Amino acid sequence: MSDFGKVYLIGAGPGDPGLFTLRGKAILERADVVVYDRLVSPSILAFCNDKAQMVDVGKMPTHHKVKQSEINKLLVKFAKEMPSAVIARLKGGDPFVFGRGGEEALELVEAAVEFEVVPGVTSAISVPAYAGIPVSHRGIATSFHIITGHEKEEVRGSRPEEIKVESDAECHPEQTLQSISCHPEQAQRVEGSSIAGLDFPALAKCPGTLIFLMGISNMQMIARRLMECGKDPKTPLAFIEKGTTPYQRTVTCTLETAAETIVRENVTAPAITIMGGVVKLGDKLAWRKKLPLSGKRLVVTRAAKQASGISAKLTALGAEVIETPMIETRSVEPRVDTCHPERSTKCEVEGSSIANFADLANFDVLAFTSTNGVESFFEAFFKASLDIRALAGKKIASVGKITEKKLLERGLHCDFVPEDHTGEGLGKLLAKIAQSSNLEPGASTLLLQGNLADDTLTTLLPKATRWVVYETLPAKTLPDWKREAVAAADAVVFASSSAVENFAKVVQHGSVESHAELDSASASPCLEPQATCPAPRTCFSIGRMTTATAKKYGFEVVESDETTMDSLVKKIAEYYA
Ligand code: SAH
Repeated sequence: MSDFGKVYLIGAGPGDPGLFTLRGKAILERADVVVYDRLVSPSILAFCNDKAQMVDVGKMPTHHKVKQSEINKLLVKFAKEMPSAVIARLKGGDPFVFGRGGEEALELVEAAVEFEVVPGVTSAISVPAYAGIPVSHRGIATSFHIITGHEKEEVRGSRPEEIKVESDAECHPEQTLQSISCHPEQAQRVEGSSIAGLDFPALAKCPGTLIFLMGISNMQMIARRLMECGKDPKTPLAFIEKGTTPYQRTVTCTLETAAETIVRENVTAPAITIMGGVVKLGDKLAWRKKLPLSGKRLVVTRAAKQASGISAKLTALGAEVIETPMIETRSVEPRVDTCHPERSTKCEVEGSSIANFADLANFDVLAFTSTNGVESFFEAFFKASLDIRALAGKKIASVGKITEKKLLERGLHCDFVPEDHTGEGLGKLLAKIAQSSNLEPGASTLLLQGNLADDTLTTLLPKATRWVVYETLPAKTLPDWKREAVAAADAVVFASSSAVENFAKVVQHGSVESHAELDSASASPCLEPQATCPAPRTCFSIGRMTTATAKKYGFEVVESDETTMDSLVKKIAEYYA
């Protein structure tokens, strides 16, 4: 085993989080550090765990950006300073397709740092697919070719200012592209330097589909050289901007009108250029822009576990969803909840005492009702310097399969898992097992739960002991990247009044604390200047109560016809139809 951390070069795909790989997601969820580029979409960053150190190395133009050589050094530095850490290097598309992943890997090898590559869905193929353009098609194109429109430049003495543009572009192609893409005369200045390596006669003869990445700033020259070398000026061509994101746009023209089209339509990076007969198929097959929520970015404020249902529904209708849970969980020193079954939150706080791990000996069954419970219990267990053998002989019960998997990761097989995966199912199962041994329900059973767990289990198992191992709290702050994503969203979706309250506190006013002043002043928050409300002003509400709270905070509210998630989703789709 290496003493260093391990680096994962992960392809984030073209933007749509649904195109991110399962392997990439699994690594992000446990990464200690995430070094990410500007092309990585916020909904993919949302997979990172809250404790991860987030390092943005691809700031927007005008901001300071990190050079490639510095990024290489940074990865080595993190690996060397953080033994056994998981360091995720997250890059747009695929890390080895014009992503400079190879250079980073070479540097890691040089420094004896272990690494893995997690391929991503490359924009070269997926972005055309989202525009309804197959890169190959029987009878039209039997091959496709992915070409860089911005090659690395060796130093040339005669044109220093152009070389500066090139080296910059190499670090962050987007930034240079964006800044000069609307000025063909500027693109002309770098003519012949940045793409000197391209074999235009061969490309012009090639009957397959040509796909250029990073090609917008040089397109005038690329198109001219291809035509000079014999490529048909009438070849269909498409620019696809910000593909697979809510802002995807396709602009079509022909090879001979490419340069003027870029200027007229203000095509900006990131965009790919695709040429060939297949482009015409996009007229019939452009499936994505027909989805009712295509082009919309929506903030979903439910707790992570509940959010996935509505998020999946909205995503299926074409929206990009930013999940912004308004609660977070925190492990606590386990305490005994002594007041059940008449438990109340107040009673729990006043009537609880710190749990003693020596008491574990009194229990035959440990019952877990969430993955949070598993994680928090073991955090405290190991903190108490206990060894896993302290659990020898205990029966382990889990509410369902996800919690069961978490326990298996700790080397523990579950003895009891109810069929219906609910607290009630677990309670009934454990009660039955106790009775079959002539024990009272819950005798010698320890429940490991959060502070907001309801009374289902303690009611069904009155003799059980409950330890509170984690707490659920309102989220206090949002990371910067998420704040930016929320600010750029079209609307927020609220399924409860408390979500509105927390959203107003956390997003609109920066933190829960700052909101206290606001309450006392009984001000109407969104009547304040826009700068203090960097959030959408439109929201969708599940019902009357939520609507009233949202109005209080200055939202323009669209209310669901019925108080169900399906009805809410339907309302959103109708609103944007
Ligand atoms: N490794 C990446 C490519 C990096 S080069 C991949 O495999 O996709 C950056 C170029 O990729 C951009 O200039 C643009 O041409 C293209 N690109 C990346 N994401 C894109 C997107 N969502 N829409 C359009 N083009 C994209």
